[in-house]
Amino acid sequence: MPDLCRLHLEIEGIVQGVGFRPFLHRLARQHELAGWCRNTVFGVELEVEGTAPALARFRAALREDLPPLARISALRETACTAPVGEQGFHILPSRRAGSPDTLISPDIATCPDCLRELRDRGDRRYRYPFINCTNCGPRFTIVKGLPYDRALTSMGRFQMCPACRAEYDSIETRRYHAQPDCCPNCGPTLKLLTPSGEEQADPIGGAQEILQRGGIAAVKGLGGYHLACRADLPETVAELRRRKRRDERPFALMCRDLSVVRRYCDLSPDEEARLGSPRAPIVLLKKRPDAPENLSETRELGVMLPYTPVHHLLMERFDLLVMTSMNVSDQPVLCDIAEFPWQRLADACLTHDRAIVNRCDDSLLRVFRGKDSFFRRSRGYAPEPVAVPADCTGILACGAEQKGSFALSRGGNVFLSQHIGDLKDWETFQFYEQQIRRFEQRFGVAVRRLVCDLHPDYLSTEYARKRSREEGLPLLQVQHHHAHMAACMAENGLEGDCIGLIWDGTGYGTDGSIWGAECLVGGYAGFERLGTIRPVKLPGGDRCAREIGRIAHSLLWDAGLPRRSAHPQADQLTQMLSADLNSPKSSGMGRLFDGVYAILTGRHTVTYEGQGAVLLEAMAAEGQAAPYDLTFYEEEGRLTLDTRPLTAAILSEQAGGIQPASIAARFLESLVSLAVAHASYAREKTGLHRVVLSGGVFQNARLLPRVLDTLTGAGFTPYYHTHVSANDQGIPLGQTLIAAKGGGIPCV
Ligand code: ZN
Ligand code: ZN
Ligand code: FE
Repeated sequence: MPDLCRLHLEIEGIVQGVGFRPFLHRLARQHELAGWCRNTVFGVELEVEGTAPALARFRAALREDLPPLARISALRETACTAPVGEQGFHILPSRRAGSPDTLISPDIATCPDCLRELRDRGDRRYRYPFINCTNCGPRFTIVKGLPYDRALTSMGRFQMCPACRAEYDSIETRRYHAQPDCCPNCGPTLKLLTPSGEEQADPIGGAQEILQRGGIAAVKGLGGYHLACRADLPETVAELRRRKRRDERPFALMCRDLSVVRRYCDLSPDEEARLGSPRAPIVLLKKRPDAPENLSETRELGVMLPYTPVHHLLMERFDLLVMTSMNVSDQPVLCDIAEFPWQRLADACLTHDRAIVNRCDDSLLRVFRGKDSFFRRSRGYAPEPVAVPADCTGILACGAEQKGSFALSRGGNVFLSQHIGDLKDWETFQFYEQQIRRFEQRFGVAVRRLVCDLHPDYLSTEYARKRSREEGLPLLQVQHHHAHMAACMAENGLEGDCIGLIWDGTGYGTDGSIWGAECLVGGYAGFERLGTIRPVKLPGGDRCAREIGRIAHSLLWDAGLPRRSAHPQADQLTQMLSADLNSPKSSGMGRLFDGVYAILTGRHTVTYEGQGAVLLEAMAAEGQAAPYDLTFYEEEGRLTLDTRPLTAAILSEQAGGIQPASIAARFLESLVSLAVAHASYAREKTGLHRVVLSGGVFQNARLLPRVLDTLTGAGFTPYYHTHVSANDQGIPLGQTLIAAKGGGIPCV
């Protein structure tokens, strides 16, 4: 008889709720090993017993043939004990001891097998709107605590019927240990509410009827409610905008399938893969000529495919529907209609009795050179950690403010929160505090250190200060653009020093002024500021974020051309600027975009922050453009772009009758020159050649590739974001690394 060995393994990663234990069971049988496995709060642990070669093959297969959604982030072989002569392989009940330590899977779009059953008249879940299995369904959004067991999810109140129980217990089925498993006899119920609160029979049919007639329906999804309406009825879309009482922000579109998407948008294989992936994000796609109007002012459209059974059923009667998150302004998506008079927004509400525990917006990304360029990393991605090469245990990074987010870390795993929203909104701030506490519980991390932005007035800073005071925890502050730079370094695994080109709307500088078009050099531990742009005065301060005509006037005034201003309050603004009245200075790239956009279009206001930059990108003529000649001056060792000649050049072209589209293209190309000038200046001073690009401006689809290619051509090695957002949602990742590696400014 050959010698037997026994192994004890602990596996961490996404290994719960993704069919991992059945996979182990099959694998053990295949390699003729005996033993057991079970879920623990750490992940999965197992012991297997067999011959040494069989054990070796088992271990190799463990890495190679994983179930599609599983991910192993750590595998520990903790003990090799004597064989006990066990027979067969068993799945044991979950072990609850220890601290909750496992990763939680993000939510997963309905899988092809469930979809087939949903449409199979003979199946007992035929047209059941909550069908799911170990390969798909709600996860993060229903989890209250760990281990990931039904009792600790919002499915806990639904007692499984005998038929479901049998599937749950049987290794042969796709629902073996699928925690949210249910059927029409035992699971949640869909209902359609009228504004007066009555329930209608046939919820799906009733909702389709309302939509068909041009009505607006609230639809409960995985992480919150959507507002849905027909995209092909301009009147209805206009009505939706009226009711949301907001702005010109683009609406996302849900298409029934890829063939519909292809009709309205250009679609590359990479984009197709993202749309159809289990994560099912909204993907920004280039519009085709017959795409519905009224949804977005840009050349792109945000498109997603149905990702829950409810969506699939609803979409049976439609090719495409507007699906925009039901929220007000910058608040997170609504997850509980009891909190909100939905009747103001929708003509009916398609809802159900499975609670959303963690609200989570749809993720939004663009595919850039085969990789993800995130605008919002949320449903389908959160709370998957970003792995970093540093021990960050116990660090809570509090993020920025307008695109609020945070990160809590354990070991080399940085658990970045979903998109939280604008913390200045009271309810959003409550949600922020609540999610931080939940992350602490769920990942079993005791906060030992706090890190926040340098901005004294950010609510995230205030939160960090308060906790530091109340719990006696050390607090670090990190300059905003340093955090952006570190975030991009971290996700690219960079150590040592590099050059950072950090372009965004606004961030608090170490000198107390507003920065945002910065050339930094340094690493996690610290930085120097080697380049920027001439700051523009913002008459009226924060008002300039929406009233971009004020910035245009300020640029003209600075260039000595105030007479050319078309602003209705030109004289008053000139007085403010001359007297330095409520006119803080900003070197934010976003503000320069806003000002130039306002000059080119004569538009004085926008309805959401950053709209100027988005629309300037959209209006720029395609094809090659020549940059304007740039003028720099050195100030305190910083290479500073003089914006005055740039403004004058733009104005003279405008006066010469040049098309705004051409001027916009030349302006963007001038920024490419600026990037190279700043990077070259920094290389001269330091010898560094690696350049990280971060900040929301580098989400610009036209600017980013040009800057990358031009830098590469000039001998630099550029890096950009592909795992977290270049905008402020990515800030906590940078804050975390800076805290772990000895940077930041201690706060006393
Ligand atoms: Zn499934
Ligand atoms: Zn059942
Ligand atoms: Fe920023």
